Amino acid sequence: MNISKQLFELQKIDLQLDEWKARQIQIKTILADDSKIKSSEKEIKTLEAKLAEAEKELKIAEYEVNEQIGRIKINEGRLYGGKINSPKELEDLQMESAAFKKRLAALEDTQLDYMMKFEDADANHNKSVDAHSALISDTDIEHKQLQIEFENLEGKIKELKPQRDAFSQSFDPDHLKIYEEIRVKRKGVAVVEFTDKSCPACGVMLTSSQGQLARSPSTITQCETCSRIFYTN
Ligand SMILES: [Zn+2]
Repeated sequence: MNISKQLFELQKIDLQLDEWKARQIQIKTILADDSKIKSSEKEIKTLEAKLAEAEKELKIAEYEVNEQIGRIKINEGRLYGGKINSPKELEDLQMESAAFKKRLAALEDTQLDYMMKFEDADANHNKSVDAHSALISDTDIEHKQLQIEFENLEGKIKELKPQRDAFSQSFDPDHLKIYEEIRVKRKGVAVVEFTDKSCPACGVMLTSSQGQLARSPSTITQCETCSRIFYTN
C-alpha cells in the first residue's frame, strides 16, 4: 500500500470538509451581521428628527403670518370702520397698515422658505423609510438562501465525515498524527505530490537519494524544510 498516496486521498476529503466548514462560518458571520439594518435605522431616526424640526419651524412661521393678518384686520377695521374722523389718526393708521403689509410679505417669504425646507425633509425621510423596507426584504431573501445553503452543507458534512473517519481507521496512528500536525501548521496541506527534484510546496531541492526515498511507497518521506509529506503517483 502506498501510504503517502492514501494520506493524499485522506487530505482531499479533509480539504473538502475544511472548505464546507469555512463557508458555514462565513454564512454564520453574514447572518449575525445586522450593521446595515442598524445604520439604516439610525439614518431614519436622524431624518425623523430633521423632519420634526422643520415642521416646528414651519408652524411658527405660519403662526406669525396669521398673527400679522390679524393685526392688519384690526388696523383695517379701525381705518374703515368710520369711527375715527381725525385726519392725523387716519394717516397714522394708514402708515401702520402699510408697515404691517410690508412685514406680512417678509413673513410670508420666510413661511415659504420653511415650507420648502419641510417638503425636502419629508421627501428625504420617506426615501429613507422606503430604502429601509427594501433593505429588510432583500436581507430576508438573502438570509433565507444562506440558511438553505448552510443546511445543505451540514447535510454534506454529515455524510462525508463518517466516511472520512472510517477511512482514517486504516492508517497507522503515528502516520496520522504526523499528517494532522502538519496540516495544522501548513494551512491544511500536509501532503504534496512529488514529481521532479524539488518540493512543490516550498521549492527546496532534494538530493537524488532523498528523491528516491520520496518515491518509496512503503514509507513516509517529509520535506526537510517545510515538513510536508511527499507522495508520488
Ligand atoms: Zn518543502
